[in-house]
Amino acid sequence: MELLFRNVTVLPMDDTLEERVLRNMCIGIDKGKIAYFGAYEPGENAGRVVEGENLVVIPGLINAHSHIPMILLRGSSNDVPLEEWLFEHIFPREAKLTGEDIHAGSLLGMLEAISTGTTALCDMYMNLDAIASAAEKVGIRLHLTNALTSFDENENLEENRSFLQNRLIREKYRDSCLIKSLNGIHAVYTSYPRAWERVRKEAEENGKPINVHVSETKTEQENCIEKYGTTPLQTLDRYGVLDVGCIAAHCVYLTDEDIELMREKNVTAVHCPTSNLMLASGIADVSKYIKRGVNVALGTDGAASNNSLDMFEEMKLASLLQKGISLDPTAISAYDALKMATVNGAKALRLNSGVIKEGCNADLAVLDFSRIGLTPCYDHVANVVYSANGSDVAMTVIDGKIVYEYGRFACGIDIGKLRKAVEDGKK
Ligand SMILES: [Zn+2]
Repeated sequence: MELLFRNVTVLPMDDTLEERVLRNMCIGIDKGKIAYFGAYEPGENAGRVVEGENLVVIPGLINAHSHIPMILLRGSSNDVPLEEWLFEHIFPREAKLTGEDIHAGSLLGMLEAISTGTTALCDMYMNLDAIASAAEKVGIRLHLTNALTSFDENENLEENRSFLQNRLIREKYRDSCLIKSLNGIHAVYTSYPRAWERVRKEAEENGKPINVHVSETKTEQENCIEKYGTTPLQTLDRYGVLDVGCIAAHCVYLTDEDIELMREKNVTAVHCPTSNLMLASGIADVSKYIKRGVNVALGTDGAASNNSLDMFEEMKLASLLQKGISLDPTAISAYDALKMATVNGAKALRLNSGVIKEGCNADLAVLDFSRIGLTPCYDHVANVVYSANGSDVAMTVIDGKIVYEYGRFACGIDIGKLRKAVEDGKK
């Protein structure tokens, strides 16, 4: 065993087990996988032993919708309408970003992610090489895409940077178990049917899902219905986009027909509650989606509309919002919210993670339950979702390696220098 957790409390998120909280457990890790999970210590020496009855181990959190380099624009525009936010503040600043900026922003965002228990990201942005090389340094699991945008219906799509960049990453990281490139369509309002068909064909060929923004705002919904006669989801479906595996971010305005379509075509909805509130987009009725059999994962969206990458905030907010809009305290339980950030995210990304059991990826977040804010503990799941925040994470393990531990990052990046580069590079 390379790494052994001994005498820890575990929330395995494994519905085949009777207990949701297991005490005095051992987790043995070898070659990136959970090699042993049980009550007794496996009988061999471990390279490193971590123990403590106050340590609570959960599956690593999966941020299923992010734009990591947007950490560079954190707090750059606040309390303004979405259109003004996007067209007057975000787009002009993004146009000035260099590859170096994007690399630095990716490093900073990924360090924030791993220090708050996130082990995998599903990211959408530009300049993928700068993002992927940051992930390689930090050691985080990254699925990324340059999502297709094209406003010119006569564009030669074979030269669209989305395909070129996605293929570049797929080729360059062919042997990486951490970095994968997906297919992507930015949204129905930033491209057109011929482009969607081309992306679908690409997905058929490479077998990777399509990441797309769907029904984020009322305006998007209404404009799409006016232009195509159907909702964004149904419009994409007409061109086969939902048939090749699809991860749909936001899904704030799904109709009953949309929900049925999501279930039928096995499309994951990624709920981004903070971003949807920050930009006054609305509240997705995700408890209804879940009840009807849709897989719902959780995401932060970009830090420019969040303004953090702390998945603990998303879990708590996801649960509270549903209680508030349904007047039903059971609408999304603490366990449901934790499942969205682990099991459901893994399902969306087709990852062998999200649960703690033998044979799964050793992607774990370890919380320090001796913290004042987590005391007392009647219910471990409730404390994780309703009381904890990212700073309660003591240790993060990805692919069997400790990438973060009590304020220290294994990658050895000079944080002071990185902070200065990001601060000095503000647009
Ligand atoms: Zn987004």
